[in-house]
Amino acid sequence: YVNIQSIIFTQNHNMTFESLGIHPFLLKALAHQKYSEPYPIQEQAIPAIIKRKDVLGIAQTGSGKTAAYVLPILMNLQKKELSKNRFIDVLVLVPTRELAVQVREVFYMFSLALPERIKSMAVYGGVSINPQMMGLQGVNILVATPGRLIELVESNALKLSAVDTLVLDEADKMLDLGFQDEVNKILKLLPTRRQNLLFSATLSDNVNEINQMILHEPLVIKIEEEKLNIDLITQTAYSVSDEKKGPLLRNLILSRDMKQVLVFTSSTYKADNVAAKLRKNGINAEAIHSGKSQGGRTEALKQFKNGSIRVLVATDLISRGIDIKFLPFVINYELPRSPKDYVHRIGRTGRAESPGEAITFVSADDEHHFNIIQKKMGKTVEVLSSEN
Ligand code: AMP
Repeated sequence: YVNIQSIIFTQNHNMTFESLGIHPFLLKALAHQKYSEPYPIQEQAIPAIIKRKDVLGIAQTGSGKTAAYVLPILMNLQKKELSKNRFIDVLVLVPTRELAVQVREVFYMFSLALPERIKSMAVYGGVSINPQMMGLQGVNILVATPGRLIELVESNALKLSAVDTLVLDEADKMLDLGFQDEVNKILKLLPTRRQNLLFSATLSDNVNEINQMILHEPLVIKIEEEKLNIDLITQTAYSVSDEKKGPLLRNLILSRDMKQVLVFTSSTYKADNVAAKLRKNGINAEAIHSGKSQGGRTEALKQFKNGSIRVLVATDLISRGIDIKFLPFVINYELPRSPKDYVHRIGRTGRAESPGEAITFVSADDEHHFNIIQKKMGKTVEVLSSEN
């Protein structure tokens, strides 16, 4: 079994980052990052965090949890006078150096879009402390592992008395790694009046203890995980050049007499393009992606389900919501960026114990990436030649 994040699709959800109250400057940055719609955790967390409510998010990496707190925290910082010198406004505790760097990057990237300068920094152990001490001057948002944070506080390089927002990210991992005492110590150093945001993949007793200690009437958001059995799916791949993908797709649909096939592309532009080409060749096809209205999407999905559309061409975001029993064929016209998305895509077939088939088009440029996907998935896929 492969665990993947399930993004719950509600028929009438038509949320945009704009409708969540996101600042226009950040909307530009979101568009630039190709975040076309909020993920469910963002949909729920962002308005609550802007209102300065506490939040408990039960969600894994991949759910979009980082942006779910980064965006509203940056919004809130716009509304207040920022701390100076060695005082910080926001403290994000994380279990590992990797996560510290990753989270800080998201803060950095979005803060660049804002008119006011907001300084963020990551600190973690295992490297020399001196450069970190020097760099702390004027920092507003600090992303830290617990041990190094305490060292910095103890050497007076940092003051925590102005912190008004605390984030504990991957709280379960933090406790698994034995940071309980450090976390408790840090909590005692923080002002009591503050906003608390806690994210954890699981809710163990240990995590619950911290929840109870720090969260006040939190909004609880739970993003469910879905288990997919990819063993049920027959996977094949064709090595094919970009120019030959169109003819190969038509050939497969016709020669295999596919009555209902979901095709994935990596962009909305390509989705429209592939659907148009199929129609031109007399194959009934529709594109479904975030550029279409909710009404248009619902209608296309309905017609695909009832068999009046033979081919649905979709992008990844949409794939998360498509749940059709007995979908026999999924074709990856283009590879997704992440192995997780690949599993998500092919998981649209082979459900409910019915066998399904996933066919992936692999261009010469994709070979390396497709190997990575196979490795992550723990399965090898035979790559057939399309020249016959
Ligand atoms: P996270 O769970 O925070 O580690 O995020 C997982 C991945 O999803 C990251 O690569 C983000 O860049 C990406 N991501 C987060 N939110 C969105 C969104 N609304 N649309 C598209 N990608 C997103």
